[in-house]
Order: sequence, then structure tokens, then C-alpha cells
Amino acid sequence: MKKEIAVENLDRVITQVEAARLRVSEHHIVKIIGISKYSDASDVATLYSAGQRAFGENKVQDLKAKSEELDELPLEWHFVGRLQKNKINNLIDLNPTLIHSLDSLDLAQELNKKLEAKNKKLSCLLQVNSAKEDSKTGVMPEDAIDIYKTILETCPNIKLKGIMSIGAHSEDRSIVKESFITTNNIYTQLLPLGAKYCSMGMSSDFELAIACGSNMIRVGSTLFID
Ligand SMILES: *Cc1c(COP(=O)(O)O)cnc(C)c1O
Repeated sequence: MKKEIAVENLDRVITQVEAARLRVSEHHIVKIIGISKYSDASDVATLYSAGQRAFGENKVQDLKAKSEELDELPLEWHFVGRLQKNKINNLIDLNPTLIHSLDSLDLAQELNKKLEAKNKKLSCLLQVNSAKEDSKTGVMPEDAIDIYKTILETCPNIKLKGIMSIGAHSEDRSIVKESFITTNNIYTQLLPLGAKYCSMGMSSDFELAIACGSNMIRVGSTLFID
């Protein structure tokens, strides 16, 4: 895409995020993760030159390709997609800044085992299926706190930093809002256990997510599509 458009997109998102966070509090800081899955490394480099540092991918092979191509830039790389067990070792070797999509206890224990074998640690978020949709993975909201505690207790090589959720798939804003409130309620209960990030909000709903307490948004199409 044209460089000017990528930079305009970033400026618009920054302005919207700034207004949304100030409506919550001047102390409410929101981190923007640019999800580059629709785009290529040159667009990531363009946004880097406009100040964006954190990017994310939903496929291990794309994370590897783009992070290696842009190896000389001081970028943060996040993983936000469904993690297949046979890709765990590849992902660990890429040293992602944060895995947002730890979506079951089973996956957490498998990841922990592979991290132990490599003598490494990784920061992760527990994914919650707040709207209980069949199309989404993640733990059920009523199980989230127990599973979070179990991961803390049984997976010493996972540094659990909070939760991630995808807003309800609905045209009805009140249903989307309800799913964000559910997620934020869980996050609030996890604060005493050291949770730092409530990752929710995408291109179509990040302002609503911030109003509901999100402090990390994952925006793709609004940044990377003309
Ligand atoms: C693609 C993706 C995003 C970004 O989606 P947009 O609607 O394009 O902003 C955010 N989170 C996850 C998990 C994704 O797969």
C-alpha cells in the first residue's frame, strides 16, 4: 500500500485511541498492536518509521518471515492466532514478546513442557471466549479464573500477564459491549494475581473496548488496508 496512506491510517488510530483513553482517565494507557497479517514487511517498516513498534501475526510462519525480514528494526512481535501443537517449538524459537492466544489449559501445559526442555520462559495471555461462540477458541468465562490460577501454579515457564478476548461477533453494539464487560470483569479479578494486560478491541470495536477497560488493542485492517 502507499506509504502516505499507511501513515494516515496510523495517525487516525492514534488520535482515536488517545480520545478514547482520555475518556476513561488520563492515567489509562493503551498499547496499540498493529496486526500485519493482511500486509507485507514493507508496510510494517513504513509504520515503524512513523513510530509504531509493536506488531502481531496470527500464523507462526508469517511471524517468522516478517520478523526475520525486519530483523534490524527494534520491533516487538506478538502472536495472536490459534497455536497448533506442532508449531509450538517454531514459535518459541522466534522469541515473541507476548502470545495472546493461550486458549486452553492443555495448550498451556504443552507449551510449558516445550519451554522447560529449551530452558526458556515466555509471556502469555489466557484467551477467554467471553461471548461463548462456537466459532472462537478460548476458555469459558466461568472457568477463566480457575484455569488462570492452575496455569500460574503448574506452568512455571509461562509468565502469565493477563487475558485476551475477541469481541462478540454481532452488529448489535450492546452485545459486543457485554462481551467486553465480561472480559474486563475477569481481568479485574485477576489483578491481585499479577494480571497486567486486558487485550481486547480490533478495528471495528477498539473504542468501545477501551471504554470497557481494554489496555491493549489489536488493529489490523484499519491500519493496513487502504
Ligand atoms: C486479525 C486479528 C486481529 C485484527 O483484526 P482487524 O479486524 O483487522 O483489526 C486482531 N486479533 C486477532 C486475534 C486477529 O486474528
